[in-house]
Amino acid sequence: MTNFNWCHGPSCHKSHTVDRVRGVKGSKVLRTRKIKTSNWNRGNWYNYFCGNRCYDEYVNKHIEQVIAIAPRTECLETPINDPKRTTNTYTYGMNDEYSYNRTETKIEVDETRQS
Ligand SMILES: [Zn+2]
Repeated sequence: MTNFNWCHGPSCHKSHTVDRVRGVKGSKVLRTRKIKTSNWNRGNWYNYFCGNRCYDEYVNKHIEQVIAIAPRTECLETPINDPKRTTNTYTYGMNDEYSYNRTETKIEVDETRQS
């Protein structure tokens, strides 16, 4: 078993960075980045992609196949209690000389209606 993956970004090997330069003088190449597997990246996309750009390019290129793995054909719902709106006054400054009101809505999951 290898302890690394090649970055899956479709154009990783086209980015002009010095860390991708490989080969002997006269036949240099830009090479796909190698990603070392570790406890830090195991089980997440950092194990397969060197960065957000490569991840985005891969997902955008293969999005239909990715979605086909686990398609969402209907919405999901989380039961909640009726939301409570409260207006609180907050103060700030050295001597609380300034204040402002802020209306907040508290949303709580209704544990009695969980399936
Ligand atoms: Zn990459």
